[in-house]
Amino acid sequence: MFDLCLLYHEISDDPSILLSGFGNITIDPTTFAMHMKVIKEKYGDRILITFDDGYKSASELAPNILGDDIKNTIWFINSSLAGNKDVFWLSKLIWLYVDKKLKPPMRTNIISATYLDAWGKMHYSNGLMCWIDSVSMKEYWKGIAKREQIYVNSIHDINDGRLFGIHTATHPNCNNISYDTFGVEVALCDKFVAVENKATQFFAFPFGEFGKHWGVSHLQHEALSAYSIIFTVGLAGSEFNKVFPRFEVPTDIMTESGVISFVEDCLWKTHYYSQLTKEHSF
Ligand SMILES: [Zn+2]
Repeated sequence: MFDLCLLYHEISDDPSILLSGFGNITIDPTTFAMHMKVIKEKYGDRILITFDDGYKSASELAPNILGDDIKNTIWFINSSLAGNKDVFWLSKLIWLYVDKKLKPPMRTNIISATYLDAWGKMHYSNGLMCWIDSVSMKEYWKGIAKREQIYVNSIHDINDGRLFGIHTATHPNCNNISYDTFGVEVALCDKFVAVENKATQFFAFPFGEFGKHWGVSHLQHEALSAYSIIFTVGLAGSEFNKVFPRFEVPTDIMTESGVISFVEDCLWKTHYYSQLTKEHSF
């Protein structure tokens, strides 16, 4: 068992235009290698490293950097993005308004990527998805996805012992979808990951923050009953059975002492909180 779980997304020197709007999503390979060296030397196997959303260059670069430790990592995949058949809906939203300068559906003049990132997560809905596709056509996005090739094609090709996890099909805000749709989102991703006997015990909520992106009702959904660990982002929600906290590592930590102080802070939070929840049993 591990004491702490950390989260990364993309590893690249040259991130795709579709990722340019997001803060803290892409780390350059040299910095990532420094993070891994410090973590391995100081903490050994106490820290679980996870990667979200199935970025292709992260998938290709991580084994060179991690060596045999790739076997101790978990990769949370979104089945609708794998194969580069579609673009992540939040990338579409940012692309349409920041790059294509469309008029946004909200009353504000502040249309920055950061604003849309926060707005999109909160306002995720079926209607918003239909609207994004209606102004831009699915074929348009398919073309961009094929050209950019930012997601893994298939997990059939990855045979280095790493573990896979479920991160839903399309990366919705789970609080904004119906009970039935949540079940479908999980089942589609599970079906994708379970091929080649790569059945998984791990689930991570998209975006991941308890209250904002998922709630207690999701834990009672039968779709999650098969998984032994369910990952949240941050501490909140980890008082529930099977739920383990994860911390997103800032991609701009450039020094060894910076890595250590971040890890120590997260270790302390995880440990302190687990003592607290044990004592008070919520
Ligand atoms: Zn994600």
